[in-house]
Amino acid sequence: MFDPLEKLKEYVRQASVSADPQFKDGMVGAQKFVATLLREMGFAVDVIPTELHPVIVGTHGSDPRWPHVIIYGHYDVQPPDPLSEWTTPPFEPVVKQGRIWGRGAADNKGPLMVHLAAVGRLLENNPQLPLRITFVVEGEEEIGSKNFKSFLVKHKERLRGDFVFMSDTGIPNPEQIVITVGLRGLLALEIEAQGARTDLHSGLHGGALMNPIQALAELCASLHTPEGRVNIPGFYDEVCEVEPWEREELRRLGLQEKDYADFLGIETFHVPPGYTPFEAIRYLPTLEFNGIEGGYQGEGTKTVIPSRARVKISCRLVPNQTPESMQEIIFRALRERAPRGVRITITPQHHAAPYVVVPPGRQNTPPDQSPVLARAFRATDRAVAEVFAKPPLYLREGGSVGLIADLKRVLGLDAVMMGLFLPEDNIHAPNESFHLGLMEKGIKVAEKVLMELANPA
Ligand SMILES: [Zn+2]
Repeated sequence: MFDPLEKLKEYVRQASVSADPQFKDGMVGAQKFVATLLREMGFAVDVIPTELHPVIVGTHGSDPRWPHVIIYGHYDVQPPDPLSEWTTPPFEPVVKQGRIWGRGAADNKGPLMVHLAAVGRLLENNPQLPLRITFVVEGEEEIGSKNFKSFLVKHKERLRGDFVFMSDTGIPNPEQIVITVGLRGLLALEIEAQGARTDLHSGLHGGALMNPIQALAELCASLHTPEGRVNIPGFYDEVCEVEPWEREELRRLGLQEKDYADFLGIETFHVPPGYTPFEAIRYLPTLEFNGIEGGYQGEGTKTVIPSRARVKISCRLVPNQTPESMQEIIFRALRERAPRGVRITITPQHHAAPYVVVPPGRQNTPPDQSPVLARAFRATDRAVAEVFAKPPLYLREGGSVGLIADLKRVLGLDAVMMGLFLPEDNIHAPNESFHLGLMEKGIKVAEKVLMELANPA
């Protein structure tokens, strides 16, 4: 059996930045690393090309009667910039202070190594394990998994599993594992208001026409109620209820509103009635203004009526909203409210669907939940409780990971997302690192989960 830490060092050394073509060698190096390790573990491996970076698929076990777990990970990392802020070089891994330091150590190379090592140990001790395992390791997660969906559609047959097991989410501290059971979706758009054909002198023409900045400001101001709800008919129609058990899990996390307000540097929260801020960021949809521009912003005064203004808006969506139907109702409201006297153009941008999975045994668990998925949740709960001496919490998160919804939409697969990175791991930032104690415990948990799936008691 390989040494997970030594292997992780080798993996982090591959500078696999998917966003920047200059890192092509690192991308190829990381692909080779994952493919080779899987082959050494006895997997049949294919490196499957996409329009940009290939996906590595490794399969083990072929008996169709065995449960089939898909293990997801990504081999690409964020760019290391700004380099001057790193205390050790990003692609020369260093082990110190109980951590491994380097770009990708926590997102997602360390957590993927947890699963690789767990499977490696398990198969070494139980070569005849009655379990089908398929690793799917993509190379575009950090740039939005653009080609992942079409990859899933194309390879649907091979990926017909029972559930996805993965670690690419966070936890609050090394003692408390969180299983992420929901993610918000995203819907981004841009609105442009076009007035006169050119910028105008406000003395010569002011008073004769609608100012595009005013038009956009009025339109934007119409989109929320004073108490903080989004003011678009039907906006909340598909929002699924927050169950009491979910609120209880969140309470157990022990977050304090005062600490959160201090962290944000704000005096008061602005949350729709009936929700705490911690609930609002997980369970409610939003409509946010991300940027607004128009007219003169330079030094001094310029008495201009600008010819156009623009605003960027994004909405976080929650189950069971879909980007398609939300786009329809939002666009309709915007068109109906568009002030007269300007031409409004609305351009849709990228979107991602929200996702939710309910663990077994809750009030709202679907009665037709896959038995293997239910067993996977129960096995994970038990294994975490044993290894960490504390059961996991089941929480929805506010962020968006489109590929999770794609796995559900294309393959019909739910995911058991076992968080392993910490707030202080600095993912996407300089001086990223991964906690070695968590790595060791994570391996034990993953090994127990897979063992229990293969040999149900
Ligand atoms: Zn990641």
